[in-house]
This record gives sequence, C-alpha cells and structure tokens, in this order.
Amino acid sequence: MLLTVNGLVVRTLKLGDFDRLVTVITETEGKLTFKACGINSLKNKNSAACALFTYSEFVLKKNGDSFYLSRSSPLFFPLRRGCDLLRLSLAGYFTQLAADTSYDRESTAQVLKLLTNALVVISKNDREPDLIKAVFELRLLTALGFAPLLDGCGVCGCEPGGKDGFFFDPLGGDIVCPDCAKEDGLKISRDCVLLMKRSVESDEKSAYAVTVSGPLLEEFADVSERFLLAQLEKRYDTLDFYREAKELTKK
Ligand SMILES: [Zn+2]
Repeated sequence: MLLTVNGLVVRTLKLGDFDRLVTVITETEGKLTFKACGINSLKNKNSAACALFTYSEFVLKKNGDSFYLSRSSPLFFPLRRGCDLLRLSLAGYFTQLAADTSYDRESTAQVLKLLTNALVVISKNDREPDLIKAVFELRLLTALGFAPLLDGCGVCGCEPGGKDGFFFDPLGGDIVCPDCAKEDGLKISRDCVLLMKRSVESDEKSAYAVTVSGPLLEEFADVSERFLLAQLEKRYDTLDFYREAKELTKK
C-alpha cells in the first residue's frame, strides 16, 4: 500500500552506513517514522527532501506496522540556509518540542503549522531569538490545551492592572495577586502578563511582530520557559544546547 503525505522532517537517525530513520510531522497522518534506504549516499535523489527542517512530499510504502520511503520531493525550506549557531539551535529546540508533542492527528496538524511559521520567523533574522522562543513556547502550550490563565488573580479575580507584585504559578498556569498569595513565588510584572496574553491571543501572522528588549524580554523568556517545562515535565537536551549557544554568542 502506498501513502502520500506532506510534512516536515523533525528527526533523522543514521542506521548503519547507508540508511536513515526519518521522522516527519504531517498535515493529515500525525507523526510518522519511516526507513529511507540508501539515503546517506550523496547521489541519492531523496536526500534533500529528507533533510532536517525540510517540508516535503513523501510517498511511503507500508509493510505491516513499518513505513519505507518510496520517493520524495522537497516542497519548501522554512529554515533558510545561513542561520547562525544560536538560531540553528533554537530551530533544533522547536523541532524537538514539536516531535515530542505531536500526540495525535489533530494536535500534529496544529503543531506543524506553528513550527513551520516559527522556522520562517527564525530565518528572517529581525526578531530576538529569546522573543521567538517565548512566543512559540506559549503558543505551543495553548495549542495543546495548556493556555495560561492571565485575565486576573486565580483566587480573587482582581486584574493585574490594579496592583503590582503578582506571582505566576508555572504548574497551575495562572497568576495570583499579592493579597491572595500564601507564599512568595515567581514574580511577574504587569507588562509581562500583557505580553504573554498578546502572544497567545494574536493570530499566527502578528504573534511575533512585537519589539521587546532588556529586563522585560529576560522576564518574558524566563517565565515562558518555566511554564513550558512545568507543563511538559521533561528535559530537552536541545534547550541546553540553545543556552550554551547563547553564552557563546555573548562572549
Ligand atoms: Zn487575589
């Protein structure tokens, strides 16, 4: 049986000298892993379509529970060539997150859209990597059903505009005002709350079109990352790599 799917390559693993296992997240079939034979040879006509970050059409042969690549052609390269190490490591982190959270057909289609757009934004080079990272993390969580609750204090409902000194609870995903907080937690400024709200409520096109820098960007990136890690309860080695790349670019 032949199956034709469009999707983005999110992981490739070398199998011996010649073959690869390729994982793609697809528009219609969820996440699929297939074996691509002979792909490590430079002459192989499928190697471009099966490269990481490439959006391609794949024709797969199904044999039992396994898929084998029959042929493929690249459709689109969302991540342009020439990205620096920091941007490349950010793309690697997003791709690992997307591969990890493509649970079923419906969520995968949404994750695929978010990831493809985020890779395009990374390539444009006009937004801070930490900003792209925070916006993607929040939008991914929202697509998966873990939207943060930011309209008001989770206990009394008062709005963050009224008083300062709110806390954010990464596990509960909500904010608590200083009067209701039983203990000190992760402080969150009013501007950061507004930025987070904007990130999840905007449409995909304008979500990244905001300029933030300095302490607010640091806070936004820190709160969003803690929220994501608390919700997904995982460690991502690509996130460690992104942090290392950030340190390197500082020097
Ligand atoms: Zn309150």
